[in-house]
Amino acid sequence: MSYLLVDNAEILVTMNAGRDEIPRGSVLIRDRVVEKTGSSKEIRSFIESRDITPEHIIDAQGCVVLPGLVNCHHHLYQTLTRTIGTGEGKSLFDWLRLLYPIWAQMDADAVYVSAKLGLVELLLSGATTVADHLYLFPNDARLDDEIRAARELGVRFHPTRGSMSLGQSQGGLPPDSVCEDEDDILRDCERVISEFHDPEPLSMLRIGLAPCSPFSVTPELMRRCAALARQHAKVNLHTHLAETVDENRFCEQKFGMRPIAYLESLGWTGDDVWYAHMVHPDPDEIQTLVATQSGVCHCPSSNMILASGIAPIREMSDAGVRIGLGVDGSASNDGNHLLGEARQAMLLQRVGWPGFESSADRFTARDALELATLGGAAVLNRDDIGSLAQGMAADLVGFIVDGLAHAGSQSDLVAGLLTCTPANTWFSVINGKPVVQEGKIPGLDMQALVANHNQHAKRLLQQAGH
Ligand SMILES: [Zn+2]
Repeated sequence: MSYLLVDNAEILVTMNAGRDEIPRGSVLIRDRVVEKTGSSKEIRSFIESRDITPEHIIDAQGCVVLPGLVNCHHHLYQTLTRTIGTGEGKSLFDWLRLLYPIWAQMDADAVYVSAKLGLVELLLSGATTVADHLYLFPNDARLDDEIRAARELGVRFHPTRGSMSLGQSQGGLPPDSVCEDEDDILRDCERVISEFHDPEPLSMLRIGLAPCSPFSVTPELMRRCAALARQHAKVNLHTHLAETVDENRFCEQKFGMRPIAYLESLGWTGDDVWYAHMVHPDPDEIQTLVATQSGVCHCPSSNMILASGIAPIREMSDAGVRIGLGVDGSASNDGNHLLGEARQAMLLQRVGWPGFESSADRFTARDALELATLGGAAVLNRDDIGSLAQGMAADLVGFIVDGLAHAGSQSDLVAGLLTCTPANTWFSVINGKPVVQEGKIPGLDMQALVANHNQHAKRLLQQAGH
């Protein structure tokens, strides 16, 4: 048995059932789980009474400590194509048409390097659990390549085996060249489940199945993926849904139904399903989400950059929908800062839009932090992450709040994490192991990683004729 002590945080945010926030708080970790939380004084006397000697002590003075943040939707490979189309302002379908041929140049190395870079950025912004959606497998690219990057970094990972099968020749959006044969897709889904999926509590890796969107796969592929996932414990289903008005229109024209009714008709609702975006649900659709316990990942930066709209997070949350947070992108966000994304969620919900009054208290800083922790855990169908309490996974992060950006925010250091400029994490612990230490990932050659990544990014552009 080995112990790690995170000691003396300015405030320890537990996200436990009572939402306790403990001044001068400490967390004692035993192996992979939280053993005890409390004030530094309480934890120190507990340690003495049990004759415990922690092997490692992290001094959290000057930090707010909270459960590790959970990212529920992402495309890590898109770090390779940041700013293409977003600077000039393309909307979703035009942006996708511009990017598909560039993404078609990816290979295994490009997937690995981009995943590593994106995950590093996420880790430094406070993420400890990351779901990713990889839905193109050109050349020799495989899901295995991003799994290798995640394992090297020690992040808790939910990679989803995505897919596209409805090419332009069949009325879909992507060119046929980036679509796959449906039997091949199913075979590879089965392969990655059997090779990598761990359904056990405290799992560091769970596979999900994720046909890309209604406009890029056939109904048959959606049905077959759902059937396959449900043969295995804890293999969840994921897709993009109700992201734009264009998509709602596409579903009505092609399938004669709005997006959620369409997915319901395919068996794609339930507590093992989560959708990215859900910007345009009507009140009946929100009720369907509640009744079926289907989850939603909110991606505010992406929704703003592509002008997709404002997702009614307050309404869905009040109705009882499971909602988490995701940076999406990275090419439809151009950033991977998860704490920053929580700030975006807080700000965007306060803005008024047709049918909704502006209201500063529609979404508080604590609402947004809950979305990024407990919300994400619920969306990924996990009861072992998202809060700090006895027996929970030992995933936590510390953000410095005694520096320049937070000067003057002593009245509420927790809210200050989001109302002030979001910081990078000073330390993180994942699965009981220190990952970020003093703002850095030990052993990582950042310069070499960025240089290698940029070479891949340039190669993709050249090969795509840009
Ligand atoms: Zn996405």
